[in-house]
Amino acid sequence: MVDLVTALHEHFGHTAFRAGQEDLVRAVVEGHDVLAVMPTGSGKSLGFQLPAVLLPGTTLVVSPLISLMKDQVDELNKRGIRAAALHSMLPGEVRRESMKAARAGDLRLLYVAPERFASDPFIGVLRDVAIARFVVDEAHCVSEWGHDFRPDYRLLRHAAGACRRADGQPGRPPLSAFTATATPEVRDDIVELLGLASPRVVVSGFDRPNIDLRVRPVSGDYEKHAVLPGLVGNHRSLVYAATRRNAEEAATALQAAGIAASPYHAGLKDTERTKAQDGFASGALHVVCATNAFGMGIDRPDVEAVIHVDIPGSLEAYYQEIGRAGRDGRPAIATLLWNYADVKTREFLIDRGREDLPGRAKVRLDPAEVERRKELDRKKLRRMVAYADTAGCLRGTILRYFGDPAAREPCGSCGNCDRRTPLDADGRLFVRKILSGIARAGERYGRRKIAAMLVGLVEDLPEPLTRLSTTGLLREHTPRSVEQWIDAGCGAGLIRPSNDQYRTLGLTPLGRDVMAGRVEDVRMVIPSAFDNGLFRAGRRRRGQWPGPRRSRKRSVW
Ligand code: ADP
Ligand code: ZN
Repeated sequence: MVDLVTALHEHFGHTAFRAGQEDLVRAVVEGHDVLAVMPTGSGKSLGFQLPAVLLPGTTLVVSPLISLMKDQVDELNKRGIRAAALHSMLPGEVRRESMKAARAGDLRLLYVAPERFASDPFIGVLRDVAIARFVVDEAHCVSEWGHDFRPDYRLLRHAAGACRRADGQPGRPPLSAFTATATPEVRDDIVELLGLASPRVVVSGFDRPNIDLRVRPVSGDYEKHAVLPGLVGNHRSLVYAATRRNAEEAATALQAAGIAASPYHAGLKDTERTKAQDGFASGALHVVCATNAFGMGIDRPDVEAVIHVDIPGSLEAYYQEIGRAGRDGRPAIATLLWNYADVKTREFLIDRGREDLPGRAKVRLDPAEVERRKELDRKKLRRMVAYADTAGCLRGTILRYFGDPAAREPCGSCGNCDRRTPLDADGRLFVRKILSGIARAGERYGRRKIAAMLVGLVEDLPEPLTRLSTTGLLREHTPRSVEQWIDAGCGAGLIRPSNDQYRTLGLTPLGRDVMAGRVEDVRMVIPSAFDNGLFRAGRRRRGQWPGPRRSRKRSVW
């Protein structure tokens, strides 16, 4: 095979691949079906652009974003790579020209909008073109679980089947799906609904090592507004809030501290919004306080701080928002101000149902479907809460969530890694009990089951877990606090959850050494003995666990 690095340099002028890119390009070139999950801006497009240059035939790229399509086509043509786009915003004449070039086999890449596939003449043209790869960009649009469902995406499986392969082989061309949305539900949907056959899955690029991650517990709005100016300081900052009112209040608090801040949300007049956007772009305005749904237009590569005054609805949303920090590669800080009461706001927003944002496909849903979605949103929220609550490495927690193999814990540059302290003998003993529990359970179970086993809540457990020597070993503790210690053990690099959806817990070599007493210097973020809120709001099922009081009495730290 051609040397990919040479080809990368020759055609795109880059000297090296970024993380994951080479594996991705190779998988696509080799003709596998591929699912690539990489964040926006990480260089996903190269995963189909470079193969398109190297392979015989035309690579068909389905993309719903007309402006992005145009950018990519312009960029490719500038590099001397023949590419064209087909979408409804182009004059008929230009479209005919592109079709002609495609038919003649002159194009390395042909970008098309998904609604083209609803047109029979277009499908007819497709049959004439020798297709190297069928690429579905923004592939999460096929899933109703995603944030941007597009019914036309459901046509793509059939459309790919109607394509002729450039290599003359029978069957459809190899299919590659690209997305920045990494949740398991969306991924499963993509594989199923696009009909990917034994796809190679490439997940990478989620780590943003220059962004320092922090969670700062606060007792309420007063404390939030008190600490906010200090967190912003003289840094160019984005502040995210759950509601318009909270965005307004954050801006007011900053203005009162003499900081040039402006709110930014859908409730503002166009002129006010443009003013904020332009002010931020020009640098005159230091801070924009946006609602989560509405931070899109605000962009600068040199944002140094992103502060969330309310917990966002999901880790995907959170990571996307903090991803606006430090795009110039310089150090940046992302801080989540964490108050359990804010979860209520999020729950309210979920119960109220999704807003139909402009441009989003409107789908009529039956009530069962609506309920299913709300349940999914609640699940996402719980994962976000678990992040806010974790004593483990914050970066590791996010990367594990996305399934990015780059997760290395402890990362050394997050608030929790910074707070690691040495354990005393009691603490070590406690941790060794947890490690033994994981080992006795055969490293085949996840956090929740292991914690339930250790505290002796056996009713819902699989049979093998009900009669281990470690079953009930920590019966004086709450499942919640044991789970926090498990997280802390992950953060300390003693425990590693598996990289699949089951997240079964296993021990690292260091974890084994600690369990066996061979290593005594154990550092971790010691979870507070108190349950810090997740279950306080009446979520606890009655009789399930003894509650914070008893656990505090018995707890030695
Ligand atoms: P995505 O599709 O993931 O949002 P793009 O493919 O548009 O991101 O890439 C983002 C930017 O990164 C582009 O400007 C691209 O030229 C650049 N880029 C991609 N791969 C590399 C690389 N290996 N080296 C340097 N720059 C790269
Ligand atoms: Zn860390």
